[in-house]
Amino acid sequence: MKFGSSGIRGIVNTEITSESALCIGRAVGSEYHDVVVGRDPRTSSEMIECAMVAGLLSVGCQVTRVGMVATPTLAYAGRNRDCGVMITASHNPPEYAGVKLFNPDGMAFDSGQQETIERSLADSDLRLKPWHGIHPVRTDKNAVSDHISMILSGINIEKQMLVVVDSGCGAASLTTPYLLRELGCDVITLNSQPDGFFPGRGSEPKEEGLAVLRSVVRDVHANIGIAHDGDADRMVAVDDTGRFVSNDKLLAFFGMREAGRSMVVPVDTSMLIDAVLPGVTITRTRVGDVYVAEAMKRIGADFGGEASGTWIFPKISYCPDGIYAAARLVEMVSQEEGRFSDQISTLPEYEMKRGTLPNRGGMSSMSRIEEEMRTNFEFAGFSTLDGVRLALDDAWALVRPSGTEPLIRITVEGETRVEVERLYLQIEKIIKRL
Ligand code: MG
Repeated sequence: MKFGSSGIRGIVNTEITSESALCIGRAVGSEYHDVVVGRDPRTSSEMIECAMVAGLLSVGCQVTRVGMVATPTLAYAGRNRDCGVMITASHNPPEYAGVKLFNPDGMAFDSGQQETIERSLADSDLRLKPWHGIHPVRTDKNAVSDHISMILSGINIEKQMLVVVDSGCGAASLTTPYLLRELGCDVITLNSQPDGFFPGRGSEPKEEGLAVLRSVVRDVHANIGIAHDGDADRMVAVDDTGRFVSNDKLLAFFGMREAGRSMVVPVDTSMLIDAVLPGVTITRTRVGDVYVAEAMKRIGADFGGEASGTWIFPKISYCPDGIYAAARLVEMVSQEEGRFSDQISTLPEYEMKRGTLPNRGGMSSMSRIEEEMRTNFEFAGFSTLDGVRLALDDAWALVRPSGTEPLIRITVEGETRVEVERLYLQIEKIIKRL
């Protein structure tokens, strides 16, 4: 079994079974002795949790269960323990199950830690404890209220705000609406009953799935709409006119208020960030929120995020926290002049084009693409951190292989449509020729 950048994920009872969860529990429990376990509302999560807890206990681990919680709530509950185990497949479809492991500072396990667990998994000689070495399970019913209290202590919303929250039937159903009411907001909820079938919409909060949220925000004249993914490490927003706020704009909006001197984003982030944060040192990483968090910790950045809807505030945690982000966003909107749509409209607009081509040559085709791009363009910057990123004077392009499918992904952004189309076609031609 292999960990990816988001832990272990797969289809339940096919790729991830109760047996595999038991083995992961034994492997984690033989490395970490005081572990907190939480789960999302998926139909499979309780089954995986029971097996995971049995595995942890069998090797003498001290286990505390916090029940159904959001991923950032679990990460916060792990602050005084050795390790946090979250049973979640995040925003994947309902048939998926997953496991994500966290350090006490909220940072997901890095590749070195994951390799240690993978090695333990392969070790058939894991020491099972004798009868007197097995601990009772503890239950902590305060994880959600502790997380809410921590957020309440740092947020102050003075203006009366009407907020529509679409929890996507995920774990945030039990947290974000209550938190915002405690902060003094009027709250209308959508899809806020936890349900592993995700009957309201897909658990990934994409613009196409948020038509109901957008129309409710418009119809009730709300100040803002908020939507989460299944485990609420992500958060996206709708403005007061019911328009979906692009995550690149939201990243810029947060960055302008949170990034003091330094900010970390992945290589596929919009040039909007550079345009609106001229005095801020921007560090780009490989695509994936774990890489963003790692770089933030390494350089001590003030803020970081990814246009997938993940926002990382190191003053509270290195785990992306969609619930804190929701409260902080409502606070920011309430403290500034004008409506949210006005505040957002001051940000410059850029043209972006994304597309894919089949990848027949695997990784070897990437080195040829790199060579060709180096010789065919006059660039201001060139990076091979994750795929090939080309920076021109007023545009940039990224070509990278998909991590999950035999595809090459092309992203081009620039100031005008014409320019973007031209650059895109040029790159497409090079790849097709190869
Ligand atoms: Mg998630």
